[in-house]
Amino acid sequence: FTGVIAIDGPSGSGKSSVSRAVAQRLGLRYLDTGAMYRAVTLGAMLAGIDVEDQAAVEQYAHRMELFVPTDPQRQILVLEGRDITDEIRTPAVSLTVSAIATNLAVRRELITRQQQIVAAGRAIVLEGRDTTTVVAPDADVRILITADEDSRIARRTAELHAEVSSTTMAQTSSQISDRDRRDSTVASFQSAAEGVVTLDTSHLNLEQAIDAVLDIVRE
Ligand code: C5P
Repeated sequence: FTGVIAIDGPSGSGKSSVSRAVAQRLGLRYLDTGAMYRAVTLGAMLAGIDVEDQAAVEQYAHRMELFVPTDPQRQILVLEGRDITDEIRTPAVSLTVSAIATNLAVRRELITRQQQIVAAGRAIVLEGRDTTTVVAPDADVRILITADEDSRIARRTAELHAEVSSTTMAQTSSQISDRDRRDSTVASFQSAAEGVVTLDTSHLNLEQAIDAVLDIVRE
């Protein structure tokens, strides 16, 4: 496969694990666009910038020096020389990221950087909520990964347990629906655009979801 595979979907749909594994199996590069929104969020927080101050955050996004990895096996994110790989996954960042993601100037900046990364190298799996519609609308393969709410909550809870052991299903449930609601104000997240294949992974385990994506790519 030589080209661009764009995969989007809501949080907890399993799109990250599936996308990264698909990139690995096919020997492609991998770009986690969500990690970039998380990086701006963390960076702004560390710099003491008010995340609601749109202009200040925009300026920060323009000047930040962010190294974004594309090796699916080595996802080390570096901001101003600092390894932020783990820090961008903390609940504080997850709770704040929507404020940054709804800043249109920040989106423009990150979308430009994402398109540059795509253009700069060989075939790639591009993962994130606007990749099939905005970042790479002309991708060779475009997939929307979905899962029903119960599966998404269960997956996010399992993920979060690695982060904070005190997180309960109920907390995760309200966090996911809050984040989805905030994210849904970004128009391009609404539903599958024309030409995008929807893959419901509610009743698939990781291995089956990976195989399903590989089948779509081979078609
Ligand atoms: O995929 P992940 O959960 O890491 O994304 C974190 C947040 O970044 C999302 O909740 C969303 O607010 C934002 N995001 C975005 N556009 C993308 C990827 C992520 O706005 N392409």
